[in-house]
Amino acid sequence: MNPDKMLQVISPASGELIATLPAASANDVAKAAGQARQVHDTGVWSRMPAGQRGAVLLRLADLMQRDAEILAGLDSEDAGKPITECRTGDVPGAIESLRWFAEAADKVFGRVSSGRPDGLGLMIREPVGVVAAILPWNYPLAVATWKIGPALAAGNCLLVKPAEATPRSALHLAALAAEAGLPDGVLTVLPGYGREAGAALALSPIVGALSFTGSTATGRRILKGAAESNFKRVSLETGGKSPQVLMADALSYGDDLIDNMVEAAFLTMGQNCTAGSRILVHRRIAEEVLERFTAAAGQLVIGDPADPHTQIGPLINRSAFDRITGAVEAARSGGARVRTRGLPHGLPPHGAYYPPSVVTHAPDDSDILTEELFGPVVTVQTFSSEEEAVRMANATEYGLAASVWTRDLDSALRLARGIEAGVVSVNTYSEGDITTPFGGWKQSGFGGAEKSTDAFDQWTRQKTIWIRTR
Ligand code: NAD
Repeated sequence: MNPDKMLQVISPASGELIATLPAASANDVAKAAGQARQVHDTGVWSRMPAGQRGAVLLRLADLMQRDAEILAGLDSEDAGKPITECRTGDVPGAIESLRWFAEAADKVFGRVSSGRPDGLGLMIREPVGVVAAILPWNYPLAVATWKIGPALAAGNCLLVKPAEATPRSALHLAALAAEAGLPDGVLTVLPGYGREAGAALALSPIVGALSFTGSTATGRRILKGAAESNFKRVSLETGGKSPQVLMADALSYGDDLIDNMVEAAFLTMGQNCTAGSRILVHRRIAEEVLERFTAAAGQLVIGDPADPHTQIGPLINRSAFDRITGAVEAARSGGARVRTRGLPHGLPPHGAYYPPSVVTHAPDDSDILTEELFGPVVTVQTFSSEEEAVRMANATEYGLAASVWTRDLDSALRLARGIEAGVVSVNTYSEGDITTPFGGWKQSGFGGAEKSTDAFDQWTRQKTIWIRTR
């Protein structure tokens, strides 16, 4: 068996093999793109009335609801995510996204320019044609629906490449889509390696738009692929190093503050693009915040992701474990202090478990303050003024998200306006909901937002039809 031709899905919790699947080759991608082009050209989907497309997607959402437990189990097993997180967060969120875009399908309106007596300009939106999505492993189903929803609602044929580690929920979704009545060839899931199947999508002369969620390094490669092939429209949702900014009155929010901070830092074991991995706290409250936050992190239940009580499961794999261990040790030898805890007894020996950890006193030039770790490790830095807080918040190449905590409305708004990030939440940790755009600034993102009706910009092309009246 040629290992490059097969994908092995390994349990992050136990290190055991869960599934072996054929991996799509570059040839398979080219063939699927060609078939999608033919299906697109028949108009079976692209010219179906938009409301009917929405009805098919609503049926798909209903089937996801029926299979919610299966979908939650697949993502939990493949990604090592706590099952309760999948049951209460990822899967309901994915179903809600799909329903929302299904209902929006016939509400994508164009514009009319009518300033001249002898002419009318119609500006309409049309599907791009064959489009692609490349997915990460941390929110496999949820991110899939952020892309599948608007891409299909807009009338495109979509090729989806799930991450190597987590292909099974996307494959199940494809089976449900067929059951819902989606015509053959409209949605094709291609499990495969990034360097082969992912690169083939980026270089495809047929794919007209590609939406990617993953690392900044891969985002650069995809942009190169687009430049070297057909100028496909690329949208990137990449990494983050998001700050949680606590002004001097933040502790007046009590446990609500601490609970939100813990969720921001450790949800999905910190393997979350918007993780609040940098705590910036006013010097006056720093000590108390650190004590309370560390104590709350110490209460998180570490265990088997299949156990409904588990809040912290394993990292995605051993190499993530090694990378994070290395980064924390480098910070420690550079002078930083690390507050961490032991792992509970009885965890499987080959699971990639890493305990929630808090790094303080890192020198200003430490890598750990600016590089994305993608794990359950937060840094804590202090500031004395709002200006200093904004300067520190913006001192990374990323700009995905931030949260700010204060009861002073003026200060909250100045911070929210001053921080360079696509989403700033005030007195909560949030990415907004399905109605609000989500996308990064700086090296966190490029090419348009996901969620909300703005997501249709990624998946449609604007056309002007100019009509002369006489
Ligand atoms: P990754 O970039 O290695 O992989 C993401 C996807 O890209 C996978 O499907 C992979 O197979 C594919 N890929 C890899 N090499 C490729 C190539 N040369 N050409 C085309 N595709 C290729 O990232 P990852 O390690 O799986 O995910 C973690 C990263 O994702 C983190 O940096 C995180 O911040 C980011 N992320 C961002 C968001 C967001 O919305 N901004 C959401 C989730 C994750």
